Amino acid sequence: MPIKAPRGTYDILPPDSRKWQAMEQSLKRVAHIYGYEEIRTPVFEHTELFERGVGEGTDIVSKEMYTFFDKSGRSLTLRPEMTASCARALIEHSAHTGLLPLKWFYCGPMFRYDRPQSGRYRQFHQFGAEVFGSSSPLVDAEVLMMVVRMLQSIGLTEYLLHINSVGCPSCRDSYRQELLDFINPIVNDLCPDCRQRSRANPLRVLDCKESRCHEAIKGHPRLLDHLCSGCARHYQRVRDTLTRQGICFEHDDRLVRGLDYYTNTAFEIHIPGIGAQSAVGGGGRYNGLVKAIEGPDLPGIGFALGLERLLLALEKQDSALPGKRDLEVFVAVMEAEYEDEAVTILQQLRDAGIVADKDYLERKARAQLKYADKSGAALVLFVGADEVKQGFVTVRNMINKEQTAILRTGLIPAITRLLHHNEEAQAQ
Ligand SMILES: [Zn+2]
Ligand SMILES: [Zn+2]
Repeated sequence: MPIKAPRGTYDILPPDSRKWQAMEQSLKRVAHIYGYEEIRTPVFEHTELFERGVGEGTDIVSKEMYTFFDKSGRSLTLRPEMTASCARALIEHSAHTGLLPLKWFYCGPMFRYDRPQSGRYRQFHQFGAEVFGSSSPLVDAEVLMMVVRMLQSIGLTEYLLHINSVGCPSCRDSYRQELLDFINPIVNDLCPDCRQRSRANPLRVLDCKESRCHEAIKGHPRLLDHLCSGCARHYQRVRDTLTRQGICFEHDDRLVRGLDYYTNTAFEIHIPGIGAQSAVGGGGRYNGLVKAIEGPDLPGIGFALGLERLLLALEKQDSALPGKRDLEVFVAVMEAEYEDEAVTILQQLRDAGIVADKDYLERKARAQLKYADKSGAALVLFVGADEVKQGFVTVRNMINKEQTAILRTGLIPAITRLLHHNEEAQAQ
């Protein structure tokens, strides 16, 4: 039996990898415009980091961690998300002693030992960002505006931005009790998960995806009504800023994050029409996180987008990510004795930054032309006896099928002009 990729993983081959590259480049470009720089961390960390930094009460840590022991018996875990790794790196390198705020973005694979099903993988990909060192509501608004710009940059036009405030530990305390008083009499109407959750962390009942729970908790007390004055002002400022900048959003009382280090703004991005799990990403403020893993008392906010889900949404919206290879020039050799000249020309083209290729299967001239056409080459250069002897190259424009002779000495400027011309013609 040939070896296959492990369960819950998959390969990205061309031409699909072009879509990934285009999407990642767009996202990175937007992050750059908003002043973010890339952080890269190891794909595995000490298990303890995620237990403390993601939280032992979460599904991620209690059910989905990809944990293993290395040969020295250390417990390591493939990162299930990036925020804890970013905070760990910040503390380890004392990055907060430099210029604040720190604005970091990341892009890469994450791992969860989940049951692989309907678009959920054990190795999946996220693009995200974190800001450390500012508790300004304007940073929350900026993060949200950047997320919206990112969705637009990859061509997603239909999305819903849900936001809420989860307050701070002090305003959540009084709310938790009122929510418990509300839930206790109806606890038997809830799903088994929620019955268990309600004791340890009643807030998590609010974001249960089961419809019976959704029904049962209708009319529940709202966290919004329990915000302390600082948290209420913060949330108002975020919403006012978004409104002023023309960003559409929806306040969502059920959007909560149950852990103590989450504070203030929480958000999710939903795409209509991609199924029950319509969230493509989310994030929020976590002013208590860095301190919770023994770092300085530094506020933070971040988000992550699921790239598999973004691609799925793009396919549903028929958005056109580039699907074609961008080969510009194909060098066709008429006879084997001119291979060396073809290699020299190819090298010159590439030196000039032109995407160029040639045949490596000793195909006949006709077959080379066919290959060039299938590869989407804009121009084909013919290198044959006449050309080499008389010092020119025959160029076939694959778009308008015109054929011209170009002097070998002025080859690169002439090719550059032709490519430019084609691009302009195609743009019109
Ligand atoms: Zn508060
Ligand atoms: Zn439930």
